[in-house]
Amino acid sequence: MITMEIPDPFTTFRTKKYNRAVGLRYDFLSGEWDMKCRACNEPLSAPTKKIMTKIRLYHTRNECLGGY
Ligand SMILES: [Zn+2]
Repeated sequence: MITMEIPDPFTTFRTKKYNRAVGLRYDFLSGEWDMKCRACNEPLSAPTKKIMTKIRLYHTRNECLGGY
């Protein structure tokens, strides 16, 4: 009997891949990407990876200055 709790391999792969890369995590329950700013630990979330990149750049350039 196969359990229904096996995660989708593709989703798991993506999550691990981006987690390693930039601390970006895909929450497949809410369908959103989230991460913490590496400079100030502010939680950021976005509906797509593209928008996340914009939010992150805006945040680090205008809000916490990315630790610079
Ligand atoms: Zn920040």
